[in-house]
Amino acid sequence: MSKRGLLTVISGFSGSGKGTVVNELVKRYGYSLSISATTRKAREGEIDGVHYFFKTEKEFMDMIDDHGLIEWVKYIDNYYGTPRNYVNEMLDQGKDIILEIEMQGGLKVKANYKDALLIFMTPPSASVLKERLIGRGTEDMTTINKRLHRASEETVYIDSYDYLIVNDNLDDCVNTINRIINVEKQRIVRNNDLLNYIKNDFSNI
Ligand code: 5GP
Repeated sequence: MSKRGLLTVISGFSGSGKGTVVNELVKRYGYSLSISATTRKAREGEIDGVHYFFKTEKEFMDMIDDHGLIEWVKYIDNYYGTPRNYVNEMLDQGKDIILEIEMQGGLKVKANYKDALLIFMTPPSASVLKERLIGRGTEDMTTINKRLHRASEETVYIDSYDYLIVNDNLDDCVNTINRIINVEKQRIVRNNDLLNYIKNDFSNI
């Protein structure tokens, strides 16, 4: 009995450690990961087609015009978006896919994929977030301040998410999210084919 995969959106404040958590989920449990398109410049060590599809603004706008993105946003000074084809292919093949995207994008995904699971990750406190962003050393102080400001704006959307996870310990966080995904997959609403099969099977007993 073929079953569609589950689409999970993982969002969190910039610096919440969601990138590390998502990489571990992929490595340990074999989830598929959507690679976003962005107009942001690649950071040191980032590879085109692995971390992002790095695009010019013109290329990004063409993707929007061609309906090639499930959702897109302007986040601070750059555009980010989720390519449509890969996500749909994975779901059709029954594979569970993770999107690591910010919250407005997450809510747009939910509007189009009612079945999507939305998980929000937060560090234990705002001061821990600030320390992490500064310690990471990938952005200058102006950008860090913009990201912190954005984080405080984003708190209003958390209520629309399904789960809130504090990322205090990597292993705990990864295991908890994996458990949530597995439990969510057992929901009756996500198992209509199985339910119909069981009903039918038992009606002939
Ligand atoms: P960064 O520049 O640190 O890689 O990403 C900045 C923010 O953009 C992060 O919160 C990240 O999750 C989010 N992001 C990455 N890809 C996408 C995407 O395709 N769509 C949306 N809406 N946000 C994204």
